[in-house]
Amino acid sequence: MKKLFFVSLSLLLFGASLFAQEPLKVRADAFPPKDENNDVKATINMASTVADMANWNRYPTYETYIAMMQGWAEEFPTLCHLDTIGVSVNGRQILSMYIEVQTVVDLYRPEFFYSSTMHGDEVTGFVMMLRLIDTLLHGYGSNEQYTELINHTRISINPLSNPDGTYRSGNHTVRNAMRYNANFVDLNRNYPDPFGTEPMQSQQPENTAMINYVTNHNFRLSANLHGGAEVMNYPWDSFTSNEQPHPKRDWWISVCQRFIDTSRSYSNSHFRDTYPSGYTAGGDWYVISNGRQDYMNHYHNCLEMTMEISSDKTLNSDLLPEYWRFLQHPLVNYIEEIHNIDNSSAIEEVTSLPASTQIAIYPNPSKDKIFIREELTNQIELFDIKGIRLMQLPAGSRLVDLQGLPQGIYFLRSGNRTGKIVKR
Ligand SMILES: [Zn+2]
Repeated sequence: MKKLFFVSLSLLLFGASLFAQEPLKVRADAFPPKDENNDVKATINMASTVADMANWNRYPTYETYIAMMQGWAEEFPTLCHLDTIGVSVNGRQILSMYIEVQTVVDLYRPEFFYSSTMHGDEVTGFVMMLRLIDTLLHGYGSNEQYTELINHTRISINPLSNPDGTYRSGNHTVRNAMRYNANFVDLNRNYPDPFGTEPMQSQQPENTAMINYVTNHNFRLSANLHGGAEVMNYPWDSFTSNEQPHPKRDWWISVCQRFIDTSRSYSNSHFRDTYPSGYTAGGDWYVISNGRQDYMNHYHNCLEMTMEISSDKTLNSDLLPEYWRFLQHPLVNYIEEIHNIDNSSAIEEVTSLPASTQIAIYPNPSKDKIFIREELTNQIELFDIKGIRLMQLPAGSRLVDLQGLPQGIYFLRSGNRTGKIVKR
C-alpha cells in the first residue's frame, strides 16, 4: 500500500491522469527467481557472421559481436577506438566503442556514456547499442545531426556489460541467458551505495572494471539500458521522490518527456506497460540499493538514468528492427541532452549523507589553501561545479591549493568519499 500511495502522488505531481492508471505491476526487474528463463517462447535467430547482422534481426554470437566492434574500429580509425573496460569472470571482453573525432578541435567536448545489458538476459539494448554505433559512425559526414553530435561530444558506448550472463549457454547463443554474472551476483546490486548501509556481496570483476573505467573518464550524462518493462526511470533509486527528490528532478522529467514524446511519434503503443506517462523516479517504482544509477550520480557527478526499453527481456529477434524504429531517434536525442544541462544546479546536495563518507576539510570557505584532516587512502581529485576534473593529488595529501581558481564551489573526491569546498 505504501508503494501505491507514492505512485499516485507522483502521478498527481506530474499532472498525469489517475484514471488512466492501470494496476501496478510488480517491478519485473526487481527480484526474479535465480533460474528465471523468460525466453522459452522467444524466437531467437543468431548471427554467426558479421554479414548475418545485415538486417539487424538477429542476435550476434559472442565472436560476431567482437568482430563487429573490431571491424568498426578498423573501418573508422579517425572517428573511434575500441576501449577494453575489462574482462568478465569467465574471461569474456567488456568493450566500449569510444567515438571521438580526431579532425575537429573542441576543447570543451563533454563525455557521454551508454551502457547496456548488465542484466545478461535483457538483450534488446545490446543490439540497439550495436546498431547505434553503426548508425553514428556511418552517418558521420552525411547526416547533419550525427555529424554535429560527434563534432561536439565524446561518446562511449558499451553494448554488453555482463557477457557471461548473456552467453551463459555458450558463445553461440543468447538463449537461456541469465540476469546474473557467472558468480550469480546481480551486478545492479553490487555498486558502492552512497546512501545504503546494507551489506554488499563482494565487488564483482565486471563492476570493478566498470568503476575503474568511469573513474578514468569524466562522463557528464549517461544511461544504462535494461529490459523487462518499458519505462524510463531517473534517480534516485535509493529513495522515493517524497523521501528525497533528485536535485535535478525537473530536468529529468523534461528529458524523459522528450524521450517518450519522440518515441511515441514513431510508435504509440510502447512505454505503456508500467506508467501511463512512460517514466518515473526509480525509487517511486521500486527502491533498490547498491545500484549503478545512484552510484554514478553521487560519486561521479554523472547524470545517469535507467532505460527499461522492452517488456520482454529477451525479445523475439524478428522484433529487433521494430524496436529500433521507435528507439533510434530518442536514443540519439538523449545524447544531445548533454549540451542542455543547466550546470548551475548540477551538483547534488545530499543532506542524508552519512558523516563517515564526508572528507573533513578546513578552513571552509577558504581563500586559497584548504587542509584535509586525515590521510586518505585513495587518490584525491578536485572537480569544479561542472564536474570537470581540475586536479589529481596522491593518496595521503593533506593540502589542496586553490590559488588561481575562480571563486565558487568545488568538490573533492577520494574513493567513496566526497567533500564540498567553497572558494572565496
Ligand atoms: Zn535489468
